[in-house]
Amino acid sequence: MNNKFDFQEEHVINEINKRKAKLVLLQLPEGIKQEAVRLANYFESKTNAEVVVSGETCWGGCDLALDEAKNLGADLIIHYGHAPFIKKVDFPILYIEMKDNTPIDNLLNKSKKSLEKFNSLGLVCSVQHMHQLEQAKEFFEKLGKKVIIPEKKGYSHYDGHVVGCEYNSLKLISKGVDAFVVLGNEFHSLGAALSVRNPVYLLDTYNQEIVDMTKLRDKVIKQRFATIEKVKNSKKIGIIVGLKPGQKFGSFKIIKKKFEDSGKEVVIITMAEVNKDKLVNFHGIMAFVELACPRIAVEDYGKYDQALVTFREALVAIGELKWEDLIEHGFL
Ligand code: SF4
Repeated sequence: MNNKFDFQEEHVINEINKRKAKLVLLQLPEGIKQEAVRLANYFESKTNAEVVVSGETCWGGCDLALDEAKNLGADLIIHYGHAPFIKKVDFPILYIEMKDNTPIDNLLNKSKKSLEKFNSLGLVCSVQHMHQLEQAKEFFEKLGKKVIIPEKKGYSHYDGHVVGCEYNSLKLISKGVDAFVVLGNEFHSLGAALSVRNPVYLLDTYNQEIVDMTKLRDKVIKQRFATIEKVKNSKKIGIIVGLKPGQKFGSFKIIKKKFEDSGKEVVIITMAEVNKDKLVNFHGIMAFVELACPRIAVEDYGKYDQALVTFREALVAIGELKWEDLIEHGFL
C-alpha cells in the first residue's frame, strides 16, 4: 500500500498461491507503473511464481494483455486499476481495482455552493471512488436533494460506475435529474458532459476543485464539429481498426461503402496503439476514423495534423446521423 492507493498486495499473494500460478504477467496502468518493480519483487518473494511486468501501455479494462500473456506462456494476468470490462475472456485474469483513499469531506463541502440551485442530482464516479459514492449520496440527501445513482449499463461494472466510453446509464436518467455530479477526474466528467445535455459538475478528487464542465464541453464540441467537416472534405479516408481486445467500437463495413459511394478513396488499417508517428506514415491521408477507444479522437485533438473522428462522428460525416443527434445523444 502507498498513501493514496491500496495495492491489495496480500490479496494478490493469496490468489497467486491459491491458483498455483507459475508465471504471472503484471499489468499496470500508466499512472502507477512506477510501482511495478516493487510489486513484482514482493510477489516473487512471497510466492513460487515468476512475475513479468508488461511494458506495453495500459489505458483501461479494455486493454487486457492477452496476446502478451499467451506469447509468454503465462498462466495468470494480474490487471491493476480497472474493473472487468470485457464480458468473456478466455484467460485467467485477476482484476485489482484500486481505491483512492483521499478523503472527500472537504470536496463535498466545497460543492455546496455550485450545486445549491439543483434539486435533483445524478451521481456517478470512476472505479477508484466507488467506496465513497454512498458517502456523497448521503451528503447531498442531507442537503435536501434527490439523488439518483444510475443502474449499471454496458461496460459499467457497478451501479454509479462510469468508464470513459460508457455513459448509457446517465442517458437513461438524464430527464429525471437537474444535473450530474461526477466524483473523479476530468476525463470521466468530460465524457459525461459529451453524453448528456444536463449540467455536469466534476468533484475533482486530485485537485480538490469543483468544476462546471460547460466551458470545456463547449470548446470540445466546437473542435468535434470542425474535425467532422475536415473528414467530409477529405478525398482519402483511413479507417483504423483497433487491435486491443476490448476496443471495438463500430464496424468498418458500415462506413467504408458509404465513404466510397461518396467518391472517397478508403483504406482500412489495423493498429494496437494509435499515435502521431504511425499516422504520418500514411502520406496523403488527412482524415481518419478510429474504431478503437472513442476517447482517442477526442482527447488527442491537436496532437495530429490529420482529422481523427469516432464511429458516431463518421456516421455524421457520411450522412447517416445528424450533427444534432450527437449533441442530443452523445459523441462517444
Ligand atoms: S475509454 Fe477507452 S481506454 Fe477507457 S475503457 Fe473505454 S475503450 Fe478502454
